[in-house]
Amino acid sequence: MTEKMPVLFVGHGSPMNAIEENEFAQAWSNMGRQLPRPKAILAVSAHWETMGTKVTAMETPRTIYDFYGFPKELYEVTYPAAGSPDLVKTVRNVIKKTDIQPDMSWGLDHGTWSVLARLFPKADVPVVQISLDRAKSARQHYELGQQLKELREEGVLIISSGNIVHNLRMVVWDDQQKFDWAEKFDTNVKDWILADDHEPIIEYQKQGRAAELAINSAEHYLPLLYTLGLKDPGEQVSFFADRVTMGSISMRSIKLG
Ligand code: ZN
Repeated sequence: MTEKMPVLFVGHGSPMNAIEENEFAQAWSNMGRQLPRPKAILAVSAHWETMGTKVTAMETPRTIYDFYGFPKELYEVTYPAAGSPDLVKTVRNVIKKTDIQPDMSWGLDHGTWSVLARLFPKADVPVVQISLDRAKSARQHYELGQQLKELREEGVLIISSGNIVHNLRMVVWDDQQKFDWAEKFDTNVKDWILADDHEPIIEYQKQGRAAELAINSAEHYLPLLYTLGLKDPGEQVSFFADRVTMGSISMRSIKLG
């Protein structure tokens, strides 16, 4: 029997967390040391939106530098994890309601590698990324997460990478700053997660002004719905980072199991 894998949601914030020593990098490294060793990782990143759902199917996914204006050292980081055509097959088998398209052009974007560089610094676990289908509703993303459940029994660690609160238009370059609405929405989501009440999280568009500001575009929020879809009722939840930074970015990171 393979040990049932936990599930992670990582609030990734700035790509600099891959190389800068700070509390978030530290928290991710600590988490990496506590995790059981997975056979493979399936990563849901805020930074890969496509028409239809795709999975990276190449043997060796490239490291993608999908950001601008950062220091040179960040463009020198590589994350040379192997791909996993086997996992691609499994994902295509377990997801019955959606046709999953193998992709040979993407790779690992910073939503994935900035986080994995801390969680699995040796890059010795194969990684497959799954894209966010622009045409899917929040509920369809949640249901897609539910369909991936059995992978947990097969030694696959599913990591979603985004931010519960992410509004770049409101960002202030002050690490300690947090807006009231950002804190409010982050706390509401935390409370709903702890109460196993996923409906208001899925129905985020009905949650008023704080939610509107927190999610000014949905791509950083949607990865959370995969994590919650994978949750068993009553399963243990812990938060390994939980602070709003730069006014409008929540770094809250979640472990299930
Ligand atoms: Zn991002």
